[in-house]
Amino acid sequence: MQEIKIELAKQLKAKPQDQSTLGFGNIFTDHMLVMNYDSGEGWHDMRIVPYAPLALDPAAMCLHYGQEVFEGMKAYRTADGSIQLFRPQENFRRMNLSNERICIPQLDVDFCTEALRKFVDVEKDWVPTEKDTSLYLRPFIISTDPHLGVRAADHYLFIVIASPVGAYYKEGLNPVKIYVEKEYVRAVKGGTGFTKCAGNYASSLKAQEIAKKQGYTQVLWLDGVEKKYIEEVGTMNVFFVIGDEIVTPALGGSILPGITRKSSIELLKSWGLKVSERRLSIEEVAEAYQNGQLKEVFGTGTAAVISPVGHLKWGDMIMEINNNEIGPISQKLYDAMTDIQWGRAADPFGWVVRV
Ligand SMILES: *Cc1c(COP(=O)(O)O)cnc(C)c1O
Repeated sequence: MQEIKIELAKQLKAKPQDQSTLGFGNIFTDHMLVMNYDSGEGWHDMRIVPYAPLALDPAAMCLHYGQEVFEGMKAYRTADGSIQLFRPQENFRRMNLSNERICIPQLDVDFCTEALRKFVDVEKDWVPTEKDTSLYLRPFIISTDPHLGVRAADHYLFIVIASPVGAYYKEGLNPVKIYVEKEYVRAVKGGTGFTKCAGNYASSLKAQEIAKKQGYTQVLWLDGVEKKYIEEVGTMNVFFVIGDEIVTPALGGSILPGITRKSSIELLKSWGLKVSERRLSIEEVAEAYQNGQLKEVFGTGTAAVISPVGHLKWGDMIMEINNNEIGPISQKLYDAMTDIQWGRAADPFGWVVRV
């Protein structure tokens, strides 16, 4: 394995005193993890260095053609003060899926996981201690060649930055309001919907802004061809409890393969519940609602873990789900997942990696 160099910051920043006001993604730690790629040499020089602005040539290709991918995961503080990660190899494997689609060279998953552990260990005092807080980790890769002209680059930077965070939604576990988007689309099969690439999020802002103005938290995307089948929410996968079946859209190339989605399916199945990954139309959801069979709707993602949906607007139809309260399956899933993540419960699946 390559060596990981460490250059510590000469001066450390003051850590936030009041963990209840951390919010999400507002402050950053003292260091960052960096690695270079140069064609001919491959990935090299993994290092932990002081957090600082990047010097990029204004012609750097990522600034013009958006060749960028990212990831999101968390480091959790357990009751005994130790720190753990949740399925970090899954994140680097998914980053390689994104890389493959965006023509960025593949990473060594085990080496990146090892470097990440070292990085979190250097930043361990930044992992907050209060309930529901964590250290959010943001790996990303940008192309850096100073060149105009559309092609895959020859030079890249891999970087991980870290940010102590509180709960994602100020509302806590309270149900969110979601707007079913009928005009704009997020992704189509053959596109980049299954990757965490910057372009996907740039193209989602418009619908998000319109929904926000009407008091909605996020949009629910429908498929890009027929605008009929449910895909996912802004930064979350989505589940519907219809009668005794828990349905989530099947991965088909246009949906992000969420690690919280995958873990949720595994947990729900371990409880003997019926989980289906299949096509689900918005009409079927509306019909289930009218028949009183739509019991719960929830989103899954690293940032908010499980996010109950209490109010779903599709055109003129408003679906008020479970009296706008969190349902029993959403609650049980949230508790089980967060208990494993924060080390309050045993981890029978082997998901947790100690730092
Ligand atoms: C990151 C993300 C998710 C959730 O993935 P997790 O691995 O569970 O955090 C879902 N949808 C989109 C569009 C995302 O960007």
